Amino acid sequence: MIGIDVGATKIAAALVSSAGEVLATQRQETRAWEGAERVIARMSVMANQLIGSVLDSKNHSAPTLLGIGIGIPGEVNSQEGTVRDAVNLGWGEINLVTEIRRGLDIDAAIQIDTDANASTLGEFHFGAAQGHNNFVYLSIGSGLGSGIFVNGFLVTGATWKAADLGHVSLNPEGRTCKCGQRGCAETIVCGPGLLKLVGEYLDRGEYTSRLSGMEPLTTKQVITAAREGDELALAVLTEVGRHLGIVMTIAVSVTNPSLVVIGGGLGLAAFDLLVPVAKSELQKRVLPVLYKHLEVVPSGLDSSAIGAASMVL
Ligand SMILES: [Zn+2]
Repeated sequence: MIGIDVGATKIAAALVSSAGEVLATQRQETRAWEGAERVIARMSVMANQLIGSVLDSKNHSAPTLLGIGIGIPGEVNSQEGTVRDAVNLGWGEINLVTEIRRGLDIDAAIQIDTDANASTLGEFHFGAAQGHNNFVYLSIGSGLGSGIFVNGFLVTGATWKAADLGHVSLNPEGRTCKCGQRGCAETIVCGPGLLKLVGEYLDRGEYTSRLSGMEPLTTKQVITAAREGDELALAVLTEVGRHLGIVMTIAVSVTNPSLVVIGGGLGLAAFDLLVPVAKSELQKRVLPVLYKHLEVVPSGLDSSAIGAASMVL
């Protein structure tokens, strides 16, 4: 299987065995400003090189290509193969499957879905959610991505927008989100949300903090400061964790999962700081029976391309 994960800054592609083993990888900058056509052409070239690495070999027992899976941000209609409003890439509506196929050296089955749904499938097949038919995946990075599995199936919804927990407004009077609503979970539970909160806390002047005057501030610095006891950094991470708990409450109360998987750069780097707070918030908000057997664990995937590849299955 070939998996291609298209992000705002990089495209990660991998050739993955049907057992989830990464056999070869490709990585390139997205360079989204060059336009959809160039980005898609680059994706096709990456796929062709990975296909070539298997099929060109003189080895007669060369494996069969099962298909290509593509994870991409935006509104994705997996049935029609279209992507709409991929805001981070600056794309309008595009039939990605048709466009990619045009550039491929061989005919192959192509599956597309959102990057978050691709990761959710990846966790189910090869990651932390193996053996779990009911689980929630939350990716905390430059945004808040999510996917939900119920009774062994990925929840997609009537217009392919189910389980998009990042854009549930937790405060209709809150910060304006890039989606146009106010107070979405993603305005707080993600890297940029965390950094904005630090700025707000500093402006209020309630804490003295070593983060004061640091420019540009990174999430890594905030996490390090929190681990070294910086009160402001701890308070901000607690607030993010509390909001993460509210997001979990929504998914847990509707779907009764056995597992929540946390991924994303910030989610993994600050797992031990965010998750205990989130769990205690969740415990206050859902029935004990929903909380009692629920585990919250970090992602078990090494590469986002594995999730994309697993869509082929
Ligand atoms: Zn939003």
